[in-house]
Amino acid sequence: MNHIEQIDQLVRHAVIPISGLLSLLMPANSRVGFGIKRLDGRYRLANQAIEQLLCQGTGRLTGRSECDILPPDRVERLAHCDQLITDGAPAACVEINLPANGEQSRPYLWLKLPVLGTDQRLQSIASVIHEISSPQASSALHQTLDRLQQVNQQLQRTVIELEQVASTDKLTGAWNRRRLEECARKEMDRLQRYGQPLSMILIDIDFFKAINDHNGHHAGDQVLQALAVLLQGRLRGSDSLARWGGEEFVILCSDTRRASAAILAERLRQQIAAETFLVIGQLTVSMGVAECRPGESWEEWFERADQALYRAKSAGRNQVQVAPPAATADSMKDCVIGSFVQLVWHSAYECGDELVDRGHRLLFADANELLSAILSGQAAASVDEIIDRLLADVLQHFHDEESVILAAGFPGTAEHLLLHRQLVDQGLTLVDAYRTGKQGVGDVFQFLAYEVVTKHMLGADREFFPFLRAQASSAFRQGAGVAAATPPQHADQSAPATPGDLLCEA
Ligand code: GH3
Ligand code: MG
Ligand code: MG
Repeated sequence: MNHIEQIDQLVRHAVIPISGLLSLLMPANSRVGFGIKRLDGRYRLANQAIEQLLCQGTGRLTGRSECDILPPDRVERLAHCDQLITDGAPAACVEINLPANGEQSRPYLWLKLPVLGTDQRLQSIASVIHEISSPQASSALHQTLDRLQQVNQQLQRTVIELEQVASTDKLTGAWNRRRLEECARKEMDRLQRYGQPLSMILIDIDFFKAINDHNGHHAGDQVLQALAVLLQGRLRGSDSLARWGGEEFVILCSDTRRASAAILAERLRQQIAAETFLVIGQLTVSMGVAECRPGESWEEWFERADQALYRAKSAGRNQVQVAPPAATADSMKDCVIGSFVQLVWHSAYECGDELVDRGHRLLFADANELLSAILSGQAAASVDEIIDRLLADVLQHFHDEESVILAAGFPGTAEHLLLHRQLVDQGLTLVDAYRTGKQGVGDVFQFLAYEVVTKHMLGADREFFPFLRAQASSAFRQGAGVAAATPPQHADQSAPATPGDLLCEA
């Protein structure tokens, strides 16, 4: 039997030694009655004192239940105690008259205690019975309860330690597969109930077999250990690292969307590539990132991460690939960040107005530049510069767009200007917070790339697309002389003078 099997057996059968231990605690000649019954009501352990008290020389208590040997009124009161224990009470107690050795009944204190299994569920109910008027029995009871408590605490510590050993990988100390799946299922439940996002990063060492072949299995083991230490040291508190098997690791990122998980993965990839490992020196990894879709099974989610990892391997290794998100009605928006490293411009995103389309394309390019600056770990100053430029381009573009839709007589212009105003306010606040260190650069990117570029440009803006397209082909639009037929105006050129100017002073 191997180590894990032994522990498994121990954990599974822990309840039996517990009960055995409890009964051993009770001296045979004690006047305190002690017994344990199963949830079906039948006693499976009993000391002499309890047997004498309850059976009165009519045989053994084990295998029998209270209703076999006691009058119904007492059985009813004891059943009430059992119910309290079943409902989760830590103890329940009743004063009860029991006949003693053919003499008159005497009052006894009957204490019931829960015996919990390793899964913390009720397994059995223990009974401790002592005569209320007997000082000897009373002090014996106190001693017994003290010892019970000590044993229980020791036992609980042991169970926790065993649980820890059974849920971590021996070589690296990272969680094992079992623990990861347990935790993932809990997190997936939160996604289902509260919509809290959840992502995973699947990591596989590149050419690990060759590392083993050239340096020996022991050196390979050391690499696995060092990699686990490196990853653990760079994760956030809410991320969990598990060894999936062989040279594969999984990071579970709770409360994390795919874009942030991808940024984290890319950072880790760079840090691993920059590290010098003992004996082997340089090492690279490939990673697959996937955000869990609502309603998806663990297997389906893992499969998507695995496919992304496979793409990373086939595309040359030492890289991060992100699994595509859910195919929903919104998928066109999402597919913009689908390729992750670049926001890809599609002709379907064009509204037909050169000035507006040009602005949209410029913002795509800006967002891509910001993303690659973040990912390649450029100095804060140059990231700041790109953020400033992106913000200025957003302002200019809103200004241009407002002029165009106003001149074209788009009926939803007023609401659209309001949306712009809100985005600008939000953007300025966020950038301020970023500058004072209250927000990370990831949040700024998320806002600019997702809220402005993806959600607004490809969401709200689409409302005026058909309108502009129709206008562009009508004589009215030609007559108005705006945008479509005129050469495109770059952001630094002055926009057509329209009432829109008044609405964009931000
Ligand atoms: P790829 O870049 O495609 O992932 O190539 P690879 O060589 O890393 O992948 P492959 O799956 O061919 O080989 C994985 C190797 O990992 C083979 C196996 O001997 C080794 N391995 C698995 N578990 C352990 C371990 O616990 N310790 C050591 N030292 N090696 C292990
Ligand atoms: Mg492999
Ligand atoms: Mg590998």
